[in-house]
Amino acid sequence: MRLAGDHDAMTLAPPSVADDIFALFAAHGSASYGEQITVSEHCLQAAYFARGAGAPASLVLAALLHDIGHLLGAAPEDLGEWRADAQHEEIGARWLAARFPAEVTEPVRLHVPAKRYLCGTLPDYVSSLSPASIVTLRLQGGPMSAEEARQFVARPHHAAAIELRRWDDRGKQRNLTVPPLESYRRLIDTLADPL
Ligand code: FE
Ligand code: FE
Repeated sequence: MRLAGDHDAMTLAPPSVADDIFALFAAHGSASYGEQITVSEHCLQAAYFARGAGAPASLVLAALLHDIGHLLGAAPEDLGEWRADAQHEEIGARWLAARFPAEVTEPVRLHVPAKRYLCGTLPDYVSSLSPASIVTLRLQGGPMSAEEARQFVARPHHAAAIELRRWDDRGKQRNLTVPPLESYRRLIDTLADPL
């Protein structure tokens, strides 16, 4: 009698970084984003807009994975119910930093500071935010002061983070058809750091 998995374990390729990421989306991606769409839909839309804008591959991937911190088990089921800032950008960036270069991880780390920067420097930006994003803005520290903004623009990858933020803000649309997660498999495994 063959033991379950006996043979398969020897012949199947080890899970790739893409497999690990897809498993996270499968387990937690159907949670509400507090925007009438799921976290998965939101991430796929952000990547779709990044690709449509002609962003480099690393930034398309950053857009796809910018909210992966929400999928790592620290967030409640409905993100609209947050009462505290879960620092999902730091949680996500830390997880990604073990797998991808800085061109992917740093725009993810800075996508919340980029929102605070835009709120502090562009008067019309706050009014363009979704209701859930305005709620979390307060939890995230509110608009940046002039001094915080000056420090932000001195950080590497800040410009990429601002671009990502724009796609993030647009990626909250109901009934938008975009390419599926699987279409990013090659991109993920190409950019993943060799172990
Ligand atoms: Fe986010
Ligand atoms: Fe987001």
